[in-house]
Amino acid sequence: METLFREAKPILEKLHEAGYQAYFVGGAVRDLLLNREIGDLDIATSAKPAIIQQLFEKTIDVGAEHGTIIVLHNKRSYEVTTFRTESAYEDFRRPSQVTFISSLKEDLRRRDFTINSMAMDIDGNLYDYFDGQQHLNDRMIQTVGKASERFSEDALRMLRAIRFVSQLQFSLNGDTKTAIIQNVSLLKNISTERKTVEFEKMLSGVHHQKALQIMIDTRVYVYLPGLDSKRTQLLRFSQYNLSMLKSREEQWTMFVHHMEIESIDLFLKEWKLPSKLIQSVVKNVALLHNLRHTDWTSLTLYQAGLITAMQVERVRLTLSLRTDNNDQLMGLETLYNNLPIKARDQLAVSGNDIVKVINQKPGPWISKVLAILEKKVIDGELENEKQAMKEWLLTCKQDFDPNY
Ligand code: ATP
Ligand code: MG
Repeated sequence: METLFREAKPILEKLHEAGYQAYFVGGAVRDLLLNREIGDLDIATSAKPAIIQQLFEKTIDVGAEHGTIIVLHNKRSYEVTTFRTESAYEDFRRPSQVTFISSLKEDLRRRDFTINSMAMDIDGNLYDYFDGQQHLNDRMIQTVGKASERFSEDALRMLRAIRFVSQLQFSLNGDTKTAIIQNVSLLKNISTERKTVEFEKMLSGVHHQKALQIMIDTRVYVYLPGLDSKRTQLLRFSQYNLSMLKSREEQWTMFVHHMEIESIDLFLKEWKLPSKLIQSVVKNVALLHNLRHTDWTSLTLYQAGLITAMQVERVRLTLSLRTDNNDQLMGLETLYNNLPIKARDQLAVSGNDIVKVINQKPGPWISKVLAILEKKVIDGELENEKQAMKEWLLTCKQDFDPNY
């Protein structure tokens, strides 16, 4: 059994000792069987939330009314959830009520896809009531029970299905796909935040091209922020392999670049993305645009800074379908490292020095002079050395009108 599972065994043991059932469930079991890296380890138990809180020293109540308590153990956190069935789905999203039960099988039945509906006990025995293993072998995403019912209970599952296609390189079962087409309009009931999480996971998956194609075929995209009229743009976007993109900033830059949007800022706000991310993407897209017909110069590189430059370059390489990208990226990094200065405060003269040489009343003009010096140094026209710079300032002293 994987280390992560071994580390969590004491939690199951404690629940067993207190007379309760407890199993590893869901994504972690799926990923263990697929030999994939395991994200979070979830545990399902017959113990009610109050009992879980009593049994463990450190817990966080993240939704006791839905049965979920986080247990902290050896610096890791585990979601421990009471066996439950979900009833009274309201507005096609999460259930408004849950009923705690004592049957593992019934708990597994409420889960979205067969591959996510398996449990494993403390000894590594698998509990697979809904053909999860078979569908892992077939590499197939299929709902537990009737797809149409399961999607009308919780429409988010349609997006989850597509992102699993991307992450796991699986196919959508035919009925599951048909049910998405039939129920797609229910996605309007799902919060943007939850859509964004799934969309980002989809973009990061290996099979994003296939997943995007499914989003187009099923018309899921119509219910994503700002995309209802972007079919053609999405089709074009889906032709690219995004695997070189390393960050959310890069993925959103590439995406926004293709969507042909008037206000990038408003578009990304619609997706409810954090403002820092939005700012970076706006900056990246502008730079990408400027670099359409030219290559990097020392000055554009300096102005962008290394992080932004590398982000934009990875997007540029993705767009150009180039394969020798590592050399290109390393070349850019070397160019950056060889810049004579990395920031204005590294100039050998300060604002004070300039005032002394030019002998005028200080004012906003100083910053303009600094910008000129900065550009000259970056372009290699002037050495970043105090004496040389002072001499150059003297030669053009008369050109600086402090009133401008
Ligand atoms: P990831 O690798 O992204 O964590 P995961 O399968 O673990 O994938 P989670 O969102 O962590 O997904 O959910 C844990 C488990 O809870 C799932 O494996 C599934 O069994 C169940 N689950 C999650 N969301 C839903 C849902 N909307 N409807 C039904 N079951 C769900
Ligand atoms: Mg998970």
